Amino acid sequence: MALTGLQIQKLLPGTNCKECGSNTCLAFAMKLAAKKADLSECPYASDEARRVLGEATEPPVRAVALGAKGDIVIGEETVLFRHEKTFVNPTLLALTVRDTDDDASVEAAIASIKDYRFERVGETFEIDMAALHQLGTDGARFVALAEKISGETGKPLVLKSGDAAVLKEASRKIKGSRSVICVPDAASADELLTAAKEDGHALAITGNNLDELFETAHKIRSGGFLNLLLNFTTHSLAEQFQTNTIARTAAIRGGVKPLGFPFLRFINTGSGLDDMAAAVTETAKYGGIVTLPAFDPAMMAALMTLRLNIFTDPQKPIQVEPNIYPIGEPTKESPFFVTTNFSLTYFVVSGEIENSGASAWLAVPECEGMSVLTAWAAGKFNAEKIAAFMKERDADAMVARKRLVIPGYVSQLSGELEEALPGWEILVGPQEAADIESFVKSRL
Ligand code: SF4
Repeated sequence: MALTGLQIQKLLPGTNCKECGSNTCLAFAMKLAAKKADLSECPYASDEARRVLGEATEPPVRAVALGAKGDIVIGEETVLFRHEKTFVNPTLLALTVRDTDDDASVEAAIASIKDYRFERVGETFEIDMAALHQLGTDGARFVALAEKISGETGKPLVLKSGDAAVLKEASRKIKGSRSVICVPDAASADELLTAAKEDGHALAITGNNLDELFETAHKIRSGGFLNLLLNFTTHSLAEQFQTNTIARTAAIRGGVKPLGFPFLRFINTGSGLDDMAAAVTETAKYGGIVTLPAFDPAMMAALMTLRLNIFTDPQKPIQVEPNIYPIGEPTKESPFFVTTNFSLTYFVVSGEIENSGASAWLAVPECEGMSVLTAWAAGKFNAEKIAAFMKERDADAMVARKRLVIPGYVSQLSGELEEALPGWEILVGPQEAADIESFVKSRL
C-alpha cells in the first residue's frame, strides 16, 4: 500500500541536511510520496527505510519477464479499471501444440506462430508464445517438441505436462528462453521450482481453489522466488470472471501479495464460440497469458484488436506523425485530403481513400492525436492551422490542380480556407469516412 508523506518522514534521518536537494526531510518525504523523487537521493537513508519503502513502491502485481531477452513482460498492473490510470502490459496470446498432434499439424502451428502478422493503427502484432501440452505418454517426443518449437519460433513456451521429470528435462533443453513451467501438483512443486531457478524460467502454480493457490504462492514467494504465475481452476465463464476479479481486487485493493502475480489460463472448451468468450473474458479481466487451442485467424485478429483497445493508455491518444502522406500513387493531378493525426481517424480515412481506387495526398497536421470534431472544438484543427501546415510543407508545389477536400464535419472552415489558401479549390467531403468512396466517384 502507498505510504503518505508523514509516514515516510518517520523513516528518514530527520537531520534536514539538504543533501537530497530538499530543504527538509519532510519536503523530501512529500516528494517521495508523490513519486517525484527516489530514496537513493538521500545518502543517509537506513536499510529499514529502503526495505519498507521498497515494499510500498513495489507494484501490487509483480512483473514477470519472458523471452530470451526478457523483454516480453506481463503483470506490473496498478489499477483495477483502465480509466483509473492505464493497464500496462497486454495479455499474451499463446497457440497450443499437443504432443499427440501429427507432424503436419505441428509444422502448421509453428508456421502460424512464426508468420502470422496482424496490422492495426500502424502497429504489427504477432502470436506471442507457444503452449506445449503433453497428452500422450511419449516423454521424449514432448522434450524434442519443446526444443524444436523454441528453436524455430524463438518465442517463450508454456510447458504443461503431468510428469515432473519430463517437464524438468524440457526445461533444461530450452534453458535461457525464459518460458513458463506449469506445476502439475503440490508434490512436484519443489523440484520444478529448482528447475525454474536453474534454467531461468517462470513457474505457473495451480490449486483446487483460491485458498490452496494462495498458500502455495505464499510459500514460494516467502522463499524469494517471484517469477510466478497463477493458474486458477474454474468450471464456468462466470466463475472464471469472478475468480480473476476477486484475486486481482485482493492484490490491488487489499495488498494481498501472494495473489499479486499475472494469471495463466488454458482455454479449450471444445466450442469455438465458448473459447472466444473465455479468451475475451481473460483479456478484459486481467489475463496474463491465454493459451488458445488452435489457430483461427478470425479469432486471433478479434482478440488482438480487443487487446489493443484495452491496453492503450486512455490518457495518450494514439497518433501518427504529422505529414503529407501519399495514398496510392498520387501525381500532380491528384487531390489533397486533410484530416487529423488521431491514429484511428488517419487509418480509417486513408483506408477509405485507398478503397475508392483513387490516388491522393493526405495532409495530416499536428492535432495532438484528437479526432476531427474534438480537434476543431479545441482550436487545433482550424483554417489557420491547416493553411499554415500546407504552406510549411509546400503543398502548392506538389500539385498542378489545387483541390483540398476537408471533412464534412468542419464544412464551416471552407470559406476561411479559401481565403487562407489562395488558388485552392476547397471541397467539403463527407462526414463519415465510409462515404469517401462515393464522394470520390461523384465529385473527383
Ligand atoms: S538527504 Fe536525507 S537526511 Fe538529508 S534532508 Fe534529505 S532526506 Fe533528510
